[in-house]
Amino acid sequence: MSVTMDTLVSLSKRRGFIFQSSEIYGGTGSCWDYGPLGVELKNNIKRLWWRDFVQSRADMVGIDASILMHPTVWKASGHLDHFTDPMVDCRECKLRFRADQVDERPWTHYCPATKGNKFTIPAGEPCSHCGGRRTLCPDCGKGELTAPRQFNLMFKTFMGPVEEDASITYLRPETAQAMFVNFDNVLQSMRLKLPFGIAQAGRAFRNEITPGNFIFRTREFEQMEIEYFVNPHETVDGRPADEYWHDRWIEDCLAWFRRYGLRKENLQLREHRKDELSHYSKRTVDIDYRFPIGWSELMGIANRTDFDLKQHAQFSGKSLTYFDEERKEHVVPYVIEPSAGVDRALLAFLADGYVEEEVRGEKRVVLRLHVELAPLKVAVLPLLKKREEIVRTAQAIRAELARQWRVVYDDTAAIGRLYRRQDEVGTPYCVTVDVQTVGDSGKGESGDGKVTIRDRDSMEQIRVPIPDLAAVVGELLSGGEWTTAAARYPTAKTS
Ligand code: ATP
Repeated sequence: MSVTMDTLVSLSKRRGFIFQSSEIYGGTGSCWDYGPLGVELKNNIKRLWWRDFVQSRADMVGIDASILMHPTVWKASGHLDHFTDPMVDCRECKLRFRADQVDERPWTHYCPATKGNKFTIPAGEPCSHCGGRRTLCPDCGKGELTAPRQFNLMFKTFMGPVEEDASITYLRPETAQAMFVNFDNVLQSMRLKLPFGIAQAGRAFRNEITPGNFIFRTREFEQMEIEYFVNPHETVDGRPADEYWHDRWIEDCLAWFRRYGLRKENLQLREHRKDELSHYSKRTVDIDYRFPIGWSELMGIANRTDFDLKQHAQFSGKSLTYFDEERKEHVVPYVIEPSAGVDRALLAFLADGYVEEEVRGEKRVVLRLHVELAPLKVAVLPLLKKREEIVRTAQAIRAELARQWRVVYDDTAAIGRLYRRQDEVGTPYCVTVDVQTVGDSGKGESGDGKVTIRDRDSMEQIRVPIPDLAAVVGELLSGGEWTTAAARYPTAKTS
């Protein structure tokens, strides 16, 4: 059974992943705030992406550019002229829709064949009574829709104190352009050789006409983008370098999402048809994910050719070329752009990780997040919150582990309940301190100095001496198998 969006929205709110922005004022349309667990998950996604695609590669560097850029950037990039969606308005209820998406939603119909009864008809289908198709507003079912008008998706604002045309600027609708305008700065300062890439993760803003579906489409979101520059005169494996690298990036990005847990059957590639390619693109392939709303774009990988560098060279009057030592010529590199949304990635990881199962007649909700994505790595749980030695030992363990990982201490419920709480937010390991660990000094009994580690997925438990704990947790959190670690220690009864 796949999870519904409502379940994810409610889990996200209840457990501190994501809240509606400005909720106490009634909320801000399509804006969301990441809570204590959400920010950890989001940071982990960005950190892993940076580690795998920037830090560990010799051909990659990163930047962090400002969101407000020179307004001419958006003229040169084509965003001022082309970054538009066709929009239609209902003349009656005034709701606004993307013209190309009106038929992708269920529609309200007052059916003439049934004395005007009101029906909600599934997207794209005719009325089963009168056979009619949607012509009016899909929402109110009464108003005519206006002819499509082009609507620019960039947020406009003013730079400085005077609100006049000369000071208009825009919030960036993508992070990519900063890599193009900094191409020469990066090339010269880092003495790079083609092929190389520049990466950036940061905020982007789009005044989407129809935002929605939780964090899938919002007006403020984060992107992780790479502009990978290649020499168009070179060949790799007998193929033009840009085509070779385009395929390599598609494979690498797909493998990345698989590596961090997205199931194969929920991922697919979608080749853009010639008539839907952006104005700069030679070829674009999307990685689509089976979201709770159906198959939709998770990220796109485009071959942007030399369009952007040429445009910026023309509009700025600066040369944006690379000197090819071998051929003794200046070339304008081609660009492959893997562009991923952080929020959509987070939504996909939540949806893919969410599992409901039955354990001994009770429902268990578990978020099977990859250990490196999990917002909390370890929960330290004292079995009795009133026994001083237990509490002291558990607190000391929390402090020790927290030097390296995000760890929580929780004593606010019975142990079974505490485990379920951690399962639901994807905490891979729980460490329990009990009477056996510390003994009973009143009775002159000493403890065995061992704690229980519980594995989220198998619910198995092992008894580990406290001095070994940090090393075992470290092994498990850096990719070590539970079965390997568990084989070295006695098991405890499962919970
Ligand atoms: P869509 O067709 O869904 O509007 P797009 O093709 O315009 O997306 P790109 O311009 O290719 O998107 O942006 C790259 C990535 O940025 C997308 O794959 C997506 O993950 C993310 N993204 C784009 N727009 C939004 C948005 N409004 N909200 C959240 N993420 C977004």
